[in-house]
Amino acid sequence: MMTRMRAMLFERPGMPLRLVELPLPQPGRGELLIEVEACGVCRTDLHLIDGELPHPLLPVIPGHEIVGRIAACGADVTDMPIGRRVGVPWLGWTCGTCGFCRSGRENLCDAARFTGYRINGGYAEYTVADARYCFPLPADDDAAGDAAPLAPLLCAGLIGYRALRMAGGAHRVGIYGFGAAAHIVAQVLKFQGREFHAYTRPGDLASQAFARGLGAAWAGGSDQAAPTPTDAALIFAPAGALVPLALRRLEKGGTVICAGIHMSEIPAFPYDILWGERSIRSVANLTRKDGLEFLELAPRIPVRTEIHRFALEHANEALQQLRRGAFQGAAVLTMKG
Ligand SMILES: [Zn+2]
Ligand SMILES: [Zn+2]
Repeated sequence: MMTRMRAMLFERPGMPLRLVELPLPQPGRGELLIEVEACGVCRTDLHLIDGELPHPLLPVIPGHEIVGRIAACGADVTDMPIGRRVGVPWLGWTCGTCGFCRSGRENLCDAARFTGYRINGGYAEYTVADARYCFPLPADDDAAGDAAPLAPLLCAGLIGYRALRMAGGAHRVGIYGFGAAAHIVAQVLKFQGREFHAYTRPGDLASQAFARGLGAAWAGGSDQAAPTPTDAALIFAPAGALVPLALRRLEKGGTVICAGIHMSEIPAFPYDILWGERSIRSVANLTRKDGLEFLELAPRIPVRTEIHRFALEHANEALQQLRRGAFQGAAVLTMKG
């Protein structure tokens, strides 16, 4: 095994990530050392880098959609064979004793620690993670055993799935921002026999075509309105102005679900668009139960992720392309070219 590793390090807001060589981290009690195969690039990473998330560990290695293989186990880790493929999500540690943890809401834990934010993440050749928060993954996705297509499932997929659960039994779902999470949720909706409308940035015809290709009943810019209202709305774009827009296109009794960790200010709106038992809520983080449920469901659909590969040292380029909306689906860093 190597004794040093390459990593992309976030040092302060506004600065690009820096390629560094670090000593290999050592797994402590209950932890795994994981050789990273692939790590997804999430919009949350952009919020981190832009200084929109409070009190990050500094410096920190970003990345919370990690797919890799167990390279070593710390003390007290059982049933985790070397070489097994695992996924490491955003939720990295919870206290287990607060009111939220004890009521099945560990996603809201007062003391939770998050991967690639308060714990070093997967923009690196190796990472260390608490074994209790890692998910077992199938050893081979395709015949080639490619890790990269699995990476977006670990956040875009999990958070998208949790957001969709908040929509309850809504038949027609509006999706605002058709990126990594949306393209996975769309496949779940079709599998469940539901309909979706895709709202993109105005004029983004490529994303609208992508959404139609995934079965959208309607796709257009957020400046347009579909002919029929939706029973629920999932907002994945970080734009607060979408909240009143989505409310105006929402059926009575419906919910607008804001799924991002950060959003620009929500403009004032008249009460009558909320009237009729409409509601607005956010979705925060994930529970391990969400992860196990979704990772069991995904291969049965089966979810096919649209991915764009970047070498680890090109993480800054991947982030810039995500910011610009330069690709459909998800960006994934791969450690071996
Ligand atoms: Zn994420
Ligand atoms: Zn807790």
